[in-house]
Amino acid sequence: MSAQPQSASPAAGTGSTATGARAGGTLELDGLTVGYGGAPVLRDVSIRVPAGAIVALLGANGAGKTTLLRTVSALVPVASGRIVFDGVDLAGVRVEDRARAGLAQVPEGRSVVAELTVDENLRLGGLQRFRGRRLASAVDGVYDLFEPLARRRRAAGHQLSGGERQMLALGRAIIAEPRVLLLDEPSLGLAPRVVAQIMAVLRALRDERGLTVLLAEQNVTSALAVADHGVVLNLGEVVADRPAEDLRTDSALRHAYLGF
Ligand code: ATP
Repeated sequence: MSAQPQSASPAAGTGSTATGARAGGTLELDGLTVGYGGAPVLRDVSIRVPAGAIVALLGANGAGKTTLLRTVSALVPVASGRIVFDGVDLAGVRVEDRARAGLAQVPEGRSVVAELTVDENLRLGGLQRFRGRRLASAVDGVYDLFEPLARRRRAAGHQLSGGERQMLALGRAIIAEPRVLLLDEPSLGLAPRVVAQIMAVLRALRDERGLTVLLAEQNVTSALAVADHGVVLNLGEVVADRPAEDLRTDSALRHAYLGF
């Protein structure tokens, strides 16, 4: 890793594109070791997620994917190592300040507010960045990406299908124009058609807005179809760090690390 940390102040609001939207940032994990009190769950993990790239984080149940994403968001403390965002060391930067700097986490399980409508959920997500007409236009921007949500804008969260809930969770995260999206198994339990729709939106966000995505997935085929790069975790250690194309086409490698 080449970037040197500058200070503990997050890079909020920087990296605007020509359209005024925030562009993706570079996320670097350097020798990260993390545990929950017992043996470490992540051991000396170093991963680089370049600005505007999709990196798939792969590995079996319990490999440490969720722990890694939660550590980046400051929901789990670092035992040793560094998390660096656009050259800034995030040590000591709190959860809400990381979010303000543009790190957005979409947890496994599609957290949406069940009692609120689709529209209200989106407005709530957008409020941290927009008000008034800009907020309404940001909500419309999400409906442009996810047409099924537009048809359900007045439905309550609890009335949605699994796929619609996942789209809404993603919509709530992207409405505030994050610079890095941390996604935990967005395909979990969804029909292949819906998974393809979600992956297509990730691809569009990368290609059109330069969004950076760290995508934890057990659906290896879908993740590698959209990713630029793949990192495989096994029992908390990085065992492969390759271009996605290598992981897609090298059957010996896939067999060794991904079980198919
Ligand atoms: P999954 O796909 O099942 O979510 P994962 O790759 O995301 O797996 P983690 O959920 O990060 O893996 O779990 C890694 C290890 O850490 C597992 O052994 C798990 O039991 C343990 N672990 C996770 N959360 C906690 C916690 N809050 N307290 C103690 N141990 C935990």
